[in-house]
Amino acid sequence: KVDNEKCIDILPRDQESDHVELWDSGSCSSAVGKSGGRQMLSLTSTCVQRHGTIMHEFLHAFGFYHEQSRSDRDEWIIVNYDNIEEGKEHNFRKYDEDDINLAGTEYDYGSVMHYGPYGFAV
Ligand SMILES: [Zn+2]
Repeated sequence: KVDNEKCIDILPRDQESDHVELWDSGSCSSAVGKSGGRQMLSLTSTCVQRHGTIMHEFLHAFGFYHEQSRSDRDEWIIVNYDNIEEGKEHNFRKYDEDDINLAGTEYDYGSVMHYGPYGFAV
């Protein structure tokens, strides 16, 4: 719900060609946005025990990036690149204002799309 209005229904698939199919790849992940046709979304047995993680991955499928990828994030957080696991730096990519729509929202430290303070930390 957004402002107490329901905006998304997740329904069992009937005949829809564009749909999300759940599987377990060994990690929790989803593409960002609609890719068309069968779109795989991975949830492990651990992921499904955390409602926030399920919401997080579906929000990716609905087109949402991570909160810390917002174009204005540097006004709100400091990304300590020296403390990120090698090869995981892409998780802290920042998107240009032209690539994302902040929809007039303020930065939200409590967003389900925000990593914790030690996400991918060494
Ligand atoms: Zn994510």
